[in-house]
Amino acid sequence: EIQLTGLHKAFGDNEVLRGIDLEVARGEVVCVIGPSGSGKSTLLRCVNLLEQPTRGIVVVRGVELTDPDVDIDAARRRIGMVFQQFNLFPHLTVTENLTLPQRRVLRRDKRAAERVAHENLIRVGLQDKAHARPASLSGGQQQRVAIARALAMDPEVMLFDEPTSALDPELVGDVLAVMRMLADDGMTMMVVTHEMTFASEVADRVVFMDGGVVVEEGTPAQVIGAPGHARTRHFLSRLL
Ligand code: ATP
Ligand code: MG
Repeated sequence: EIQLTGLHKAFGDNEVLRGIDLEVARGEVVCVIGPSGSGKSTLLRCVNLLEQPTRGIVVVRGVELTDPDVDIDAARRRIGMVFQQFNLFPHLTVTENLTLPQRRVLRRDKRAAERVAHENLIRVGLQDKAHARPASLSGGQQQRVAIARALAMDPEVMLFDEPTSALDPELVGDVLAVMRMLADDGMTMMVVTHEMTFASEVADRVVFMDGGVVVEEGTPAQVIGAPGHARTRHFLSRLL
């Protein structure tokens, strides 16, 4: 579903990604872990070409996004992204936050967009907040709105960049529960996270990055349970 081949990204002479090869199969959940500055966000942003890789190939569902002739806006539509910051429009209601991109980008009419918004608010358990403004919601609720907004665009893959890192600890569980439900529904997901319990229980595969390369990857039992590399062990020991 996602194929990254020989991916490099440099900012000036700062080489942030130094040759990443990674495949994510349809319906697979891959958690990316690694120390701050290791290039996790940059990697995720290269998947939907929010960052232009310096070198290498990105293919999503058979379409090469790094092909200069590709319609990048059309390709991006199939990729949902959720960030640490929720980026909701404060002056719009929850429903309006969900319908706006559907209408602008997918050209759905108002009724169709509202129906899809309603369905996805049910999915994340926030149907009763349809008319609320983001500021009246908790951080966890806002993040679930952001997830619903991404889902309303019918993405084929979902990218999550530390979706729970900005949340108070007691709000993390609700967001992870929504992500777990998506995983169970067969969504293809790449998730940058420090939540090792989530990674252990939900990921099909865990990728440990350090210094812009994949140091080790495997099942959660392998990478988190019995890491083969000293750098992975060192990283995990500091999380506990
Ligand atoms: P964290 O866990 O702190 O989120 P990360 O693994 O996501 O870290 P990145 O955000 O990918 O790391 O950053 C990797 C490196 O790339 C850092 O040295 C950062 O300063 C640099 N970098 C990221 N984005 C840019 C940018 N737009 N311009 C210049 N340098 C950048
Ligand atoms: Mg990051």
